[in-house]
Amino acid sequence: MFSPSPVHSMIFEGRSVFVKRDDLLHPEFSGNKARKFQYFLNHDFAHITTLVGSGSAQANSLYSLSVLAKRRGWAFNYYVDHLASYLKDNPQGNYKAAINNGANIIALDRHERQGEPLEDCMSALASLAKDNELHVPEGGRCAYAQEGLTQLGLEIHQWALAQGLKQLVVYFPSGTGTTAVFLQQYFNQLHTSVEDLEISIRVHTVSVVGGNGYLEKQFMQLCPSLTLYPKIHTTTKKYHFGKLYPECYQAWKDACAGGIEFELLYDPIGFIALKQLLDQGEFAHTPILYLHQGGLLGNPSMQARYRRKYSVL
Ligand SMILES: *Cc1c(COP(=O)(O)O)cnc(C)c1O
Repeated sequence: MFSPSPVHSMIFEGRSVFVKRDDLLHPEFSGNKARKFQYFLNHDFAHITTLVGSGSAQANSLYSLSVLAKRRGWAFNYYVDHLASYLKDNPQGNYKAAINNGANIIALDRHERQGEPLEDCMSALASLAKDNELHVPEGGRCAYAQEGLTQLGLEIHQWALAQGLKQLVVYFPSGTGTTAVFLQQYFNQLHTSVEDLEISIRVHTVSVVGGNGYLEKQFMQLCPSLTLYPKIHTTTKKYHFGKLYPECYQAWKDACAGGIEFELLYDPIGFIALKQLLDQGEFAHTPILYLHQGGLLGNPSMQARYRRKYSVL
């Protein structure tokens, strides 16, 4: 169990914004993936000796799973569908930190996968798993994530009560939407408990990985019958996940000027959308809590990519 992450405040676009610092959750195990994997830290897995995961070689979940495995004394096998030779020769960020924690990173190239997507190969591997193996689906998009995210919801709720707030917007960019929908589920039940009748907390998000339709589908799949779902916003321009855009870098710099370092993959889209919403007069009378979901280990390599592509930055 973690102690609550702090809440700080900053100025963004002339507006005071609270920031929930999940990047400071714990020196080693922090950010969004730590919340999602908290379940595997707290529960008994007596028969497990090996953790198995998959995804991108730069993913935050790769690093967080490596910390989890190390803390629990498990071996850790992590499958990727592609390992760039540049990264292999110049280990950095999440990849480097995970290797230092003892991660075995296994590349299943197209040939080995016989053209199948990595996800399908992982399902096949999981169905053949031995009793000592714990398989975690990619990106932590699963019901186990609810435990840590409920704790996050409770922390936000208690903080809002201590501040005497009656209304709060919790805002952040989404990938799979797991964080957004489980937080909203937690906040929804506050309205039905008598002593908290006074507080209304709504999750607002922007889709970074898929479109809005994808995000809605994810919400329905994880929580099929909520009375209220997170509100999904859209940026005027469409951005492709992981691609570099000068205005994303600018939005990141503007946000960091508030005194807190954010990450360069999700947060730029979060702040571009937030600026648009503020310009439209949204949230004019409601305090905003921006959820900092960590991921800073990836920043140096993202900055290097930006520098290579746009030498002026
Ligand atoms: C994983 C992650 C997200 C996306 O979270 P979802 O629950 O998949 O929406 C956002 N930001 C950071 C830094 C992450 O690591």
